[in-house]
Amino acid sequence: MSVLEYDVCIVGGGMVGAALACALGQDGKLSVAVLEPRPPVEIDPDDPPELRVSAITRASQNLFTSVGAWPGMVKRRISPYRHMTVWDAGGDARIDFDAADVGEDDLGYIIENRVVQLALLERLAAFERVDLLAQAAVAHVEWTGGDSDGGARVELEDCRVIRTRLVVAADGARSRVREMAGIGTQGWNYDQHGLVCAVRTAGSHQATAWQRFLPTGPLAFLPLSDGRCSIVWSTAPDEAARLRALPESEFARELAAAFEYRLGEVVEVGPRADFPLRLMNAEEYVRPGLVLVGDAAHNIHPLAGQGANLGFMDVAVLADVLSDAASRKRDIGGLRTLRRHARWRKGEVMTMMAAMDGLKRLFGSSLPGLGGLRRFGLSLTNSTVLLKEMVTRRAMGLTGDLPTLARRR
Ligand SMILES: Cc1cc2nc3c(=O)[nH]c(=O)nc-3n(C[C@H](O)[C@H](O)[C@H](O)COP(=O)(O)OP(=O)(O)OC[C@H]3O[C@@H](n4cnc5c(N)ncnc54)[C@H](O)[C@@H]3O)c2cc1C
Repeated sequence: MSVLEYDVCIVGGGMVGAALACALGQDGKLSVAVLEPRPPVEIDPDDPPELRVSAITRASQNLFTSVGAWPGMVKRRISPYRHMTVWDAGGDARIDFDAADVGEDDLGYIIENRVVQLALLERLAAFERVDLLAQAAVAHVEWTGGDSDGGARVELEDCRVIRTRLVVAADGARSRVREMAGIGTQGWNYDQHGLVCAVRTAGSHQATAWQRFLPTGPLAFLPLSDGRCSIVWSTAPDEAARLRALPESEFARELAAAFEYRLGEVVEVGPRADFPLRLMNAEEYVRPGLVLVGDAAHNIHPLAGQGANLGFMDVAVLADVLSDAASRKRDIGGLRTLRRHARWRKGEVMTMMAAMDGLKRLFGSSLPGLGGLRRFGLSLTNSTVLLKEMVTRRAMGLTGDLPTLARRR
């Protein structure tokens, strides 16, 4: 049995885990192992778009630039969006955001999740103190540090053992590490699924992220680099199953109608999949020798495309906290170090969760009075320049207590 030693063991090399490995690798103070059982296959430029895409904020883009992974995304494929239009199916209220209003070239980028992950994992090769252990899955973790110190023994399914000061759970919404630590979660299912699919429309997407709020849930069209749009149609689970099973031509007709033909007819439909949507927050983000990041720590409704971005800000904050602790020769897995991370993230995550949940309820309800409130809120925000600028900067992740790697380069 071989025993490996690392300062940090990141479980999960998805978008968030890979980003953390890059951030720590760039800093160079700590040795890092990243475990990923299913590393992604390289994208061919002629491949159709992936089903899973993310709207990437400026703050996350800054993180990718800081760690040198942004060129790897640009060379594959990314799609800037310069405008955002949101409107309410129940009335004529709408709100438009424009990059020029905040003096920017774009509001963010739509990027396939696989592109983000590939570029980050590729970048790891540049960092001497980071090892990517591919095809490695965790079987068991035992924390050895007592009530406040770091330390853990991680057993892999292939019987290798890692001794480390700190385990980072970046293993997604159904985190096994969170489960092994016995950390509970709070939240609820939205009784909605997000149906995703890449489609081509008769009209150009105009580099705009579009979202229509239907009584059954939001429907988003996100612009892709080859002119297609990636849609996220949030609706009741049985309706999502029905839509997924429809013949392509019927699905195209229903989709165009649900979107009020804003981009004309839907002329091409790719494979479809749907995902259950839930709000989830782990009861603790840190324990001695353990931190939860990304979807292992929190899940939110995708209506404002902020889920992965929250995970990237976990990464940037944790990188600051660990770098500082390493410089001061403090225990990087100790509760004293990790509590700083938890305090910094908790407020931000709770605010985002409350905002997404509030929006979901405001737009998802047909209660009398709420339609008027929606129209009032959208019109007020749309017509008040300063308020709109504030909302835009907030959505781009450019305000608040930003960690070093997320600041503008
Ligand atoms: C329909 C939909 C649309 C969305 N749109 C957006 C958007 O526009 N913008 C946005 O910011 N967010 C969006 N999100 C949220 C976003 O997709 C997630 O927040 C993000 O994918 C989470 O990344 P992660 O790396 O934390 O987890 P994951 O992507 O789940 O990665 C976890 C990784 O851990 C690995 N793993 C699992 N188990 C083990 C194990 N035992 N040992 C080792 N490794 C393991 C897995 O192989 C995987 O690579 C959307 C979500 C949905 C459902």
